Amino acid sequence: MENIESKPEWQGRGGTFGMAKGKKQFAVIGLGRFGSSVARYLAEMGYEVLAIDESQERVQEMANVVTHAVSADSTDEEALRALGIRNLDVVVVAIGQDIQASILTTLILKDLGVPRIIVKAQTELHGKVLNKIGADKVVFPERDMGLRVAHQLISPNILEHIELSPDYSIVELQVPSNMVGKTLRQLDFRVKYGCNVMAIKHGGQQMDVTPRADHALERTDVLVIVGGNEQLNRLEQAYAKL
Ligand code: ATP
Repeated sequence: MENIESKPEWQGRGGTFGMAKGKKQFAVIGLGRFGSSVARYLAEMGYEVLAIDESQERVQEMANVVTHAVSADSTDEEALRALGIRNLDVVVVAIGQDIQASILTTLILKDLGVPRIIVKAQTELHGKVLNKIGADKVVFPERDMGLRVAHQLISPNILEHIELSPDYSIVELQVPSNMVGKTLRQLDFRVKYGCNVMAIKHGGQQMDVTPRADHALERTDVLVIVGGNEQLNRLEQAYAKL
């Protein structure tokens, strides 16, 4: 990015963008709980991250975590242009409450030609608007986390429920006691529930991505199952009380 070192108001761990050759460069706009956790994780994984928030305090908090942290209003097109944001690979817009600011920021990023824009939506309608104006991906962290927790509450054997699309999901099922010693062939999820066991985690750690039909299940095994939501719901109900 151009001019990055010459801006006195910039904070951050420093370093020049583009030093980590071949690695994607990110910006995160809005450093609330969601945005700051995305920025922090990316930085911890060794990626260059530009963090932006209109609150000087939030910027200060991230200054020692990310490559550069800067205070700016993302609805100000000139400010974003001056930051050279279009040179980055991915921009995450994590503004929740102020829906107008979230939409306007996305529009500006689109106009500036940012290659990939990920936006956090607050409501379904907000998400629809974001899709319409060209967000590459819209995420609903509160809704999705609520859904995952609810699935786990219904069945303690369900460790994870990840929505792949509105129709398909992946669930992680802790092997209940009545399945112990049975093989995948005997359980026959494919015929009984129309779902596929993609992988088995042994002892919750070691992953077998090519599970054999004659593998006898152990109590510590976790099945990773992919299927349609309706089919997975039937399967979850069936194992809810075991
Ligand atoms: P959380 O992730 O904590 O749930 P939230 O969805 O409640 O966040 P807000 O707190 O409304 O979202 O916004 C997240 C951050 O975005 C805040 O730190 C806020 O200062 C920042 N923000 C809001 N509008 C703008 C803007 N126009 N430009 C830059 N930053 C902004």
